[in-house]
Amino acid sequence: MAGLEVIRVPVLSDNYAWLVHDPASGETLAIDPGEAAPMLDAAAARGWRIGQVWATHWHTDHIAGIPDIKAGGAVVTGPAAEAARIPTLDRTVAQSDVVTLGGHRAAVIETPGHTLGHVVFHFAKGGLLVSGDTLFAMGCGRLFEGTPEQMFANMLRLADLPGETGVYCGHEYTQSNGRYALTVEPDNAGLVARMTEVDALRAGNEPTVPSTIALERATNPFMRASSADELAERRAGKDRFRG
Ligand code: ZN
Ligand code: FE
Repeated sequence: MAGLEVIRVPVLSDNYAWLVHDPASGETLAIDPGEAAPMLDAAAARGWRIGQVWATHWHTDHIAGIPDIKAGGAVVTGPAAEAARIPTLDRTVAQSDVVTLGGHRAAVIETPGHTLGHVVFHFAKGGLLVSGDTLFAMGCGRLFEGTPEQMFANMLRLADLPGETGVYCGHEYTQSNGRYALTVEPDNAGLVARMTEVDALRAGNEPTVPSTIALERATNPFMRASSADELAERRAGKDRFRG
């Protein structure tokens, strides 16, 4: 991605953590390490040392690996609004702050909803969005702390990013999300085609992530909701969905 190397690291049962490496500076960043060992191993295998950790939100499946990575000297950044729940933070960030990896700048975008302090990281030049549990492939995060209005605003904000922006989300939920999306929009040809690909990938136990903003605009029922009420209805439908 425009000078950045991004490695998907599967952790726990269905989480994705991300290693981002800047070859120019030699710096390496771990995002949402739900476990330490797979991240440290993936970095070591490439001769990289993790110098930073960024966290999108406080849930354990995104931060449990931080202490062991921090023990190796990494500086830890996460949402100011969740500092009390992420005791390992060295630096807190809020809306429109800029975080850097070598010479690469990422904007912090606050996306309350799944948790109230949730943030996502957008490398505009690299065309890369690390979306945590806010935006998934064909899905959005469960509303544990926030409101449908907040999540609707998040979807509008993220849909506004360039279509080619890569979406690096926090879980492999794509197949279940897509099955639900098909109940909402059974005649969406783009969605039907995408699910054919997703089913083939999952049959081979292959990842379906990253996605792109363009693909989400075309197939994601939450990004495609026309109002907060419609998003609320769809989110409640997904919470009940077993498929
Ligand atoms: Zn979460
Ligand atoms: Fe999660």
